[in-house]
Amino acid sequence: MRRMLVAGNWKMNGSHAALAELDAIAASAVASPVIDAAICPPFTLIERAVARAGALPIGAQDCHAADKGAHTGCVSAPMLKEAGARLVIVGHSERRADQHETSEEVRAKAEAAIRHGLTAIVCVGETEAERDSGKTLDVVGGQLDGSVPPVGTGATLVIAYEPVWAIGTGRTPSVADVAEVHGFIRKRLGALLGDEGAKVRILYGGSVKGENAIELLGVADVDGALVGGASLTAAQFVPIIEAAV
Ligand code: PGA
Repeated sequence: MRRMLVAGNWKMNGSHAALAELDAIAASAVASPVIDAAICPPFTLIERAVARAGALPIGAQDCHAADKGAHTGCVSAPMLKEAGARLVIVGHSERRADQHETSEEVRAKAEAAIRHGLTAIVCVGETEAERDSGKTLDVVGGQLDGSVPPVGTGATLVIAYEPVWAIGTGRTPSVADVAEVHGFIRKRLGALLGDEGAKVRILYGGSVKGENAIELLGVADVDGALVGGASLTAAQFVPIIEAAV
């Protein structure tokens, strides 16, 4: 009932020239109609990416909770919508750390995104110190309680479980650890959202590559992947899309 979603997060990478990568990524997405794929480039590339990517959905990596106003340097959900974005990542651990975003702010951003018809990908995940001290489920549970918006339809919300220590490090949790956390998130979504919780897709993120994608995507309650480094080139991202089919 839940379609797999493989979403690429380009972070602060990419250029006009890099958009050429979208051609083969979009072709792969079109050839894999049983799953969803998407790319989230920096704000400056969104409109060009939308024009180039055809049926491949393009997203953003953040939005403001307000629709407009005196917020220098920020971009709102209706602006993203007008630019052609269809989804937006909110609460990535890099923003929770670098911009000190709280779960309450993340929830307000997710609400704004959903209000404007964008799919919100809400990120959660523990640090290495938190995992080592046995606090993973407490931390992830607290982030979910604070960040998950009330949703009319669960299909417009996606959760990405991204252990902070697995991002960009080449390290991944064991299959058993991924299954434990995803099962925990699935239950918590049921408690928070009732029946709608079952429609929410839960992605795994953190050092997903072509080589480990089949194993990670095969874990119970894993409904797709949020991919950083390996989404920057079609050569690395297309095998992850193919692993999800
Ligand atoms: P990574 O990043 O795939 O480069 O580890 C994942 C993410 O931060 O979304």
